[in-house]
Amino acid sequence: MKVQYTDLENKIVLVTGATRGIGKKICESLATQKAHVVFNYREGKEDVAKALKKELLDLGASAATAVMFDVTNTEQIKTALDDFAKEHGQISGLVNNAGISRDQLVLRMKEADLDATLNTNLKGSMMIAQILSRGFLRAENVSVVNISSVVGLMGNAGQMAYAASKAGMIGFTKSYAKELASKNVRCNAICPGFIQTDMTDELAEATKESYLSGIPMKRFGDCEEVTNLVNFLLSQASSYITGETIKIDGGLYI
Ligand code: NDP
Repeated sequence: MKVQYTDLENKIVLVTGATRGIGKKICESLATQKAHVVFNYREGKEDVAKALKKELLDLGASAATAVMFDVTNTEQIKTALDDFAKEHGQISGLVNNAGISRDQLVLRMKEADLDATLNTNLKGSMMIAQILSRGFLRAENVSVVNISSVVGLMGNAGQMAYAASKAGMIGFTKSYAKELASKNVRCNAICPGFIQTDMTDELAEATKESYLSGIPMKRFGDCEEVTNLVNFLLSQASSYITGETIKIDGGLYI
């Protein structure tokens, strides 16, 4: 079921990690809301970005702009977002979606993988929010949505670094929300459980069954269910919600 939010029309929303998976679906959904979708990609993915821009315009986006940066490279982020602001105006929605997981048992965890996970999932999201904050103070109805994970709430064997990065995003969400609430800037986190993506499609049947047995709703989530929640949080339909952490996991962590 899809809800149309009229206030998302022409809203300028930046989505990180948009080349595939959930980030791409969020961009497609925002395009159908007629938003100006600003989507992020990494160097070397220019062809993917070109194709996505065309797709978003075809879906109804009021505009679609590709911005190249690696979320772990602060200089690249600053340059790309400064250039964007000069040409197009103020971003008033941010979806911190780019993320990686390098799962390992504690005894095998490599420091480089811990650094990469924290830098991408946590520090990258925080730096983008900080860099955009000055502009947010001049914008209207600003909403930041951080894509955390249910693993950030419940922990998971083999995912110490990933879980810590996603738990960190929740602390960042609450602090950012408290500090900027009086400036008309909201910030919320969502915690997806298992969402059906290319990754879950490739799982062996036995692995799938074992995951499904732990989910009270006995199915994986659909990307559209996640995009519905993101749209709600970006729109003024959620105008009195800030600092919240919302699970979207079919009851996995009740
Ligand atoms: P994917 O692996 O399919 O996509 C990740 C995206 O992030 C890609 O576009 C990737 O770009 C981008 N990315 C990774 N590192 C960087 C970087 N340093 N700079 C810029 N972009 C980067 O992930 P999903 O779609 O499955 O997940 C999206 C988000 O949702 C993640 O934060 C994940 O932790 C979270 N999540 C996912 C769940 C699921 O079931 N799928 C469950 C809970 C949370 P590139 O193509 O260049 O690699």
